[in-house]
Amino acid sequence: MANKSHLIKPLLGATYPEVAYGKGIYLYDSDGNRYLDGASGAVTANIGHGVTEIIQAMKEQAEKISFVYRSQFTNRPAEELAEKLAQIAPGDLDYVFFVNSGSEAMETALKIAIQYWQEIGKPQKNRVISRWTSYHGITLGALSMSGHVLRRNRFSSLLADYPAVSPPYCYQCPFYETYPSCGMKCANELETAIQRIGPENVAAFIFEPIIGAAGGAIVPPEPYYAKIKEICDRYDVLLIADEVMTGFGRTGKNFAMEHWNVEPDIMALGKGLSGGYTPIGATMVSARIIDTIERGSKVIMSGHTLSGNPQSAAVALAVLDYMNLHQPGENAANLESFVEHELRTIASHYPVVGDIRGKGLLWGLELVTNPETKESFPIHTFVTERTVKKCFEKGLIVYPAVGGINGTSGDAIIIAPPLTISKEEMKMLMKILEEAIAEISHDLDHDGLL
Ligand code: PMP
Repeated sequence: MANKSHLIKPLLGATYPEVAYGKGIYLYDSDGNRYLDGASGAVTANIGHGVTEIIQAMKEQAEKISFVYRSQFTNRPAEELAEKLAQIAPGDLDYVFFVNSGSEAMETALKIAIQYWQEIGKPQKNRVISRWTSYHGITLGALSMSGHVLRRNRFSSLLADYPAVSPPYCYQCPFYETYPSCGMKCANELETAIQRIGPENVAAFIFEPIIGAAGGAIVPPEPYYAKIKEICDRYDVLLIADEVMTGFGRTGKNFAMEHWNVEPDIMALGKGLSGGYTPIGATMVSARIIDTIERGSKVIMSGHTLSGNPQSAAVALAVLDYMNLHQPGENAANLESFVEHELRTIASHYPVVGDIRGKGLLWGLELVTNPETKESFPIHTFVTERTVKKCFEKGLIVYPAVGGINGTSGDAIIIAPPLTISKEEMKMLMKILEEAIAEISHDLDHDGLL
């Protein structure tokens, strides 16, 4: 037992470098190695590491009060954070419920949607439709809504049986069609699903504006969300946008749904809300829903001991202030075309990169055996993991996004550095990425996989 770590790590038996500190877009391990954080951890460290203003805010709040229980006290940081979020959120998403993670934000979103229909006397309207090739969190409710086959399989007997429709995944179209001649069958499928289940039984449609962990920054065709909104309005189905990964400037706008001018009824937030400086998530809810609950039972049947704690709220508030001052989302929007150009160049040199897609500073590279057939690698060849490892060895952190439609396809990596990255630093990132892709192409060819 002597030298064995007691910490359960993602991969048992594997060794991980020990981080010493972080500054800006870089992380340093205890052996003095430097890593360019090309994934903001898990698309989280949006304002970079070691920002002095956040550390100061943390300290100041800790000196006052870190925890109070929300049924006994309200607190100033949580009040102010809720007010600021209501100001920047789309439409009438005026109210906020705080949690500690993205998964919890999604669980709360689900519960509030179901409760809303109960409050207006339609308790049978309690089924939620989600999409395949999606990820909404690891807890059982959130996993039930997630079309991430790899993460679901082991626990499928525990998961609620929610219906799921096909994702708007043009590169590997589930209908083997091409946009726009497809007529967006993926969106039409939602209408068919609602009709089949019966609109009187459907509470909400749940989706990631840009598909992240399960697909690698998959952006739907332009008119997709307008059509989804039209369908949901027609059948009185709530729209729940999971902006846990896409929120807070990641795609070049405060929230990704702003790209399509579609306002959700409920929105889940996490990751960039605190930039990783503290655990916090949030569920934002429209005035219509909250007013209804206030006129009815008045109680939101969800929450956690640390929901809305002043320590986390003060940190997130400082992160929002920092973003307000430095507008890193604008930097993401400005760098978008440069990143796209660089990634297209890499893809043109290395056919293993079958597709690149994304917005702002959220980009995916899909890896395929053959760009003509778009055929994916067999799952046991671990191409995503190998690519992530290759980048890591070269001092570049990228994020794995595996878990295609049938669980055996869809190797992708995500590039999503802190939104504060400069163009020069971005060039450096691309240089290392290209070297890694060159080597992985060579290795896969050598292994007879290309
Ligand atoms: N929703 C989305 C879109 C996510 O990307 C994630 C995390 N990858 C989650 C929910 C779950 O968030 P957490 O890991 O903080 O529970």
